[in-house]
Amino acid sequence: MSPCHVTLRELQDSMMKTYGDRDLKRGPERTLLWMCSEVGEVVDAYIKGDLDSLGAELGDLLAWMLSFCNLLKINLEEVFMNRYGSGCPKCSKPVCECAYI
Ligand SMILES: [Zn+2]
Repeated sequence: MSPCHVTLRELQDSMMKTYGDRDLKRGPERTLLWMCSEVGEVVDAYIKGDLDSLGAELGDLLAWMLSFCNLLKINLEEVFMNRYGSGCPKCSKPVCECAYI
């Protein structure tokens, strides 16, 4: 798998290959907890201004998110594109024109 031009679907399949068995043993509840703890690590890296760690932690967060999606048989690429593929899901514009709150 080339690091360039990889689709989210390919990333999710890659996570299935790498961690699918472990994810199944852990189950969705505990995988979700790990995913949430990873959010804390992202926040921690951001607060510390550690940009190298921040990128790595965001990668970990995506990996846990894809594991969680694999367990629930959610195709994140499909769901994401259905929601955001044509722009903002609220105003339906390619560049959001919703009132800024
Ligand atoms: Zn909008």
